[in-house]
Amino acid sequence: MDYQSILNEIIQEVTPFLKDGKVADYIPALENVDPEQFAMSITMFDGTQFTVGQADTLFSIQSISKVFTFTLALKFYRSNLYKRIGHEPSGNPFNSLVQLEYEHGKPRNPFINAGAINVTDALINYYGGSDIAYKEVLNFIRSISNNDLITCNEVVATSEMEHGYRNMALANLMKSFNNLDNEVSDVVQMYFKHCSVEMSTNMLSRAMLYLANHGTDPITDKIYIRESQAKRINAVMLTCGHYDASGDFAYHVGLPGKSGVGGGIVAVVPKLMGISVWAPGLNANGNSLVGTMALKLFTSKTGLSIF
Ligand code: GLU
Repeated sequence: MDYQSILNEIIQEVTPFLKDGKVADYIPALENVDPEQFAMSITMFDGTQFTVGQADTLFSIQSISKVFTFTLALKFYRSNLYKRIGHEPSGNPFNSLVQLEYEHGKPRNPFINAGAINVTDALINYYGGSDIAYKEVLNFIRSISNNDLITCNEVVATSEMEHGYRNMALANLMKSFNNLDNEVSDVVQMYFKHCSVEMSTNMLSRAMLYLANHGTDPITDKIYIRESQAKRINAVMLTCGHYDASGDFAYHVGLPGKSGVGGGIVAVVPKLMGISVWAPGLNANGNSLVGTMALKLFTSKTGLSIF
């Protein structure tokens, strides 16, 4: 298939819509990102990349980092992880408090904010401290991306911490239900640090290969997780990866995927490729407006979806 021509067509078709999205302004350090930017990359199992737009530009991966923290927590805790969090769609916004109260402090899944904060807490336990846990998460991201230069933007992390009232509230609520072991500010700070990691679509599409290939990197042959764990992570991405628009994403795109409020989205075509797209303007659900559109065009034009 001529992937490059397909990507070239996609950028032409989506460019008029770039102005329609709204950049996440509840994190002041992200407010000034130019919304009229676009990038899309795919990485094949032999490492070949097809790209269009600003595919080397770094952006804040935000909630895409939740895929990486969930991977590590599932690897270490296996099914015991589900004593702390669930794996059902929430049908609620990413930062909602209401459901967490009703459900006694147990977050629905690892991809809503409460779930990801809880997973971060589990990783702090496992590694024995938040500094070392953050370093190990970063090392994991560098390993799956095969890139040692990836790092976090401290300005964004600090800005999130200064305005993180809602995430602090989620963590406090879990703590009140005895479903958070470490100090609230320590856990939330580490959560913001991994959300503030910066990557490009080229890096992210490469990083997705272990999930497209049953937990093993098809280029380096490194086994990161078991086949059954990769299956579960893909399933949770499909059902919960886009918050309360997860059903819509599955319906229109038909691939496991995860979005972040930085405007990035990752997706997986099992046994074939990793994909990443970036357009900073968001839709009302906090997912990249044009990114979602581009992925929808990609699966329509190529016929590549899991269905
Ligand atoms: N750091 C962001 C927050 O907690 C992540 C949200 C997202 O990317 O969806 O609000």
